Amino acid sequence: MAITQLVWLRNDLRLDDHPAIAQAQQQGEVAVVVCLTPEQWDEHHESPAKGSLRLKLIQTLRQQAHELNIPCHVLPLRRFSDCPNALLTLCQEQNYQQVWWQNELPVHEAQRDDNTENHLREHNIECQRFAPDLIVSQPVLNQQGQPFKVFTPFYKRWLATLSANVQSPYDLPNKQTQGEALPNEFVIPSEQSSYREDLWPADYQAIREKLWHFCHTKEALYDELRDFPAKPNTSLLSPYLALGAIGPRACLEAIIYSASQDNRDWHASVWLKELAWRDFYKQLMGFFPDLSKSLPFKPETVNVIWNNNEAGFKAWCEGNTGFPIVDAAMRQLNQTGWMHNRLRMIAASFLTKLLLIDWRKGEAYFMSKLIDGEFAANNGGWQWSASTGCDAAPYFRVFNPTRQSERFDPDGTFIKKFIPELKSIPAKNIHNPSSAIRDQCNYSEPVIDYKLARQHAIAAFENLKKEN
Ligand code: FAD
Repeated sequence: MAITQLVWLRNDLRLDDHPAIAQAQQQGEVAVVVCLTPEQWDEHHESPAKGSLRLKLIQTLRQQAHELNIPCHVLPLRRFSDCPNALLTLCQEQNYQQVWWQNELPVHEAQRDDNTENHLREHNIECQRFAPDLIVSQPVLNQQGQPFKVFTPFYKRWLATLSANVQSPYDLPNKQTQGEALPNEFVIPSEQSSYREDLWPADYQAIREKLWHFCHTKEALYDELRDFPAKPNTSLLSPYLALGAIGPRACLEAIIYSASQDNRDWHASVWLKELAWRDFYKQLMGFFPDLSKSLPFKPETVNVIWNNNEAGFKAWCEGNTGFPIVDAAMRQLNQTGWMHNRLRMIAASFLTKLLLIDWRKGEAYFMSKLIDGEFAANNGGWQWSASTGCDAAPYFRVFNPTRQSERFDPDGTFIKKFIPELKSIPAKNIHNPSSAIRDQCNYSEPVIDYKLARQHAIAAFENLKKEN
């Protein structure tokens, strides 16, 4: 029997824990397809590191598919809008009758999917669309049937929905009897990027092991240990979750299993709660299309008067603000493509409050560097920090970088790792070095006066209240 089912992979680049593949295979043997649309990724300011990881994952996925006799097509396109035609041509050439995929929620992605469905249906190709790739994929709504605008009640409802309907991950698809393996050539461009393969291998087995190792050794202590950037006590799975190399049900399964081994209640897992933030921000994208158009969630904050401070922005990007914890954070981002969550909050608060620079500039800069750059989480994190977002930090909450540094990097280990100029400075001086030390170490003077900058930031938001 010829293969008639085609599964379209997007930010769910895996073969296991994939509902569309599992269900398509029940109808018959399947092929999979990935569309490469670099123009779209450029528009999202996606980083070269993430682009390289994606290509490496596709290469590994093709090999895995090959071993299972699953044809894996890679269509090198340019734009999003090329997808409907390219998929139709592939279906017609290969005689595929049905196309299956998991929906994506941001506006442009949803539009692309609708266009593709309409186009394929017009040519008598069936489409099977699945719920988005989340732990709780159905919309989580309040009693009035409306989306939640505050995380805590969302989380309660999310957890209740999940408890009633725990889904195990799907296994790898069955080995097929036929399938013309590797039907087209796929060569990874040799362009250099900052992608660190040693840190983020594109190896599905290694990714699973990382998940299980984290859940066995660190997940129970996550709440206690997660905030200290010098020791990586978070899962470091974000690049893989962003591209879908690991699925949310696999994370849930690992949480439930390791909790059962230690006699813990998995519902109380703080790591699970962090994964709920991922669902929260993704669901928001679907409910509030303005978020995909770079608009603030709180409409009144569209009137904040941001500073046009190019020198300040440059210092922040390059890690030369003169605030060691901020600079170490930005250098970590620039050198590794990843930044610890606590530092993302400190760096974003610094840019949007103390420098009073538009959060969209920071959002785009993060995307251009992060290997885990993910539109919903990044937008959510930036709007939270800038107090423009859904359930955001209150406008008067301005992180004090020196206090944050003393609390979360008390002996300065993290700072010293990324700011070698300060490596011989004792811990008590490292969080806010004196002018003499800065001079001696050739380290920048602070670009702002913390107290004054904080007052300006609060005033900028208070002025909005007066205007309204
Ligand atoms: P863990 O602590 O192990 O958490 C597990 C997973 O849960 C993460 O991999 C991620 O998928 C999800 N998660 C955790 N925290 C959040 C959160 N606050 N919001 C949404 N999902 C979360 N995360 C991204 O994946 N991509 C981004 O582009 C991104 N940009 C951010 C920008 C800012 C300004 C802020 C404050 C946060 C951002 N985050 C982003 C959220 C968070 O910082 C990262 O998910 C986390 O640091 C990744 O490390 P980890 O995999 O070790 O996370």
